[in-house]
Amino acid sequence: MKMYKVGGAVRDQLLGLPVTDVDWVVVGATAQDMLDLGYRPVGADFPVFIHPPTGEEYALARTERKSGRGYGGFVFHASPEVTLEEDLLRRDLTINAMAEDDDGHLIDPYGGRADLNGRWLRHVAPAFAEDPLRVLRVARFAARYAPLGFRIAPQTLELMHTLSASGELQALTPERSWKEISRALMEPTPRVFFEVLTACGALGVLFPELETLGDSNLNSLQLAAQAEQPLTVRWASLLLGLGEPAVLALSQRFKVPRECQELAQLSDRYAGQACRGVALGPQPLLDMLQAFDVYRRPQRFEEFVQVCALALRAQGQQPDPLATQLHDLAAAVRGVAVKPLIEAGFSGPALGEALKQARLHAVADYCRGAA
Ligand code: ATP
Ligand code: MG
Repeated sequence: MKMYKVGGAVRDQLLGLPVTDVDWVVVGATAQDMLDLGYRPVGADFPVFIHPPTGEEYALARTERKSGRGYGGFVFHASPEVTLEEDLLRRDLTINAMAEDDDGHLIDPYGGRADLNGRWLRHVAPAFAEDPLRVLRVARFAARYAPLGFRIAPQTLELMHTLSASGELQALTPERSWKEISRALMEPTPRVFFEVLTACGALGVLFPELETLGDSNLNSLQLAAQAEQPLTVRWASLLLGLGEPAVLALSQRFKVPRECQELAQLSDRYAGQACRGVALGPQPLLDMLQAFDVYRRPQRFEEFVQVCALALRAQGQQPDPLATQLHDLAAAVRGVAVKPLIEAGFSGPALGEALKQARLHAVADYCRGAA
């Protein structure tokens, strides 16, 4: 049995980037051999194991063959006879199809090193076209490595085009798609992800709602990445101005996490009003703060302020003083204390009403001061 480091770890090491998770391929072993050595299977019938002390993944060398539509429509063949070269052949990109042995020697049958140096994202074999997830993966790698000068080889883009036109993208599960999309959004140049999807015809299949968008949403998204904003802010920035039905449709299509959907919906609903700042007037401002539940979810409103600020910057406008105003307004209503009202004798529904009035006064006071 021989074990090799493979995939992202080898690639990133050669690029001089930090390596976070290491994957291994095992040649010449059976599943029983792995169990005997104390490795834990990740699933009942998948030839991948976890090494308990390190938590790293060890996969038996395998070949794959397409058997149906979409991700999962694969039969694999893992056996001690499968060679390292055969295993590397089933991988998506040449830069992901390199291995390293114990002595640090590189095994690179498909030109990964040359493509790393030439900054090419290039498919390993025509079988690339058997898995639609690879369209998203390649777009994601482009979003990650574009700053280093990487681009997609023309023949690979052509295969991505074919996949997009084949109807296979629709067969991807929401979970699998969102995993790639969310990771792409968190890359350094997320706008490249959407540019690649556009270039290969996948945007209209996966995100038809985005096709009519102007450049400013991608600019906002890109600024959000530069400011290292969280996923929620990036998702909301991308969808801002699409209208709630589209925001909802997209969020449900990919079963996005609740925080992402909520921020995107609320941002879409309130950004226009929020952009007027104190000019909006005390009551609508308070209603907006209530809608965000700024008392229990202060972070969510701060993220909304970021979404607004990024949208303004994307249109070449100054985000201040608006961002400061919104931030201070939230602080003003949150600063209204309940205790004095209770001490003044309010209770039950009357207390709720008094609290509302006190908050409205706080907003009105702030507006007067800021005007
Ligand atoms: P990351 O840094 O994002 O983890 P990675 O290259 O390690 O990048 P993984 O998803 O961890 O990506 O997969 C490990 C390796 O398995 C890849 O480098 C690639 O060789 C192979 N691989 C993963 N998913 C696919 C796929 N859908 N098609 C072909 N090969 C794949
Ligand atoms: Mg990995």
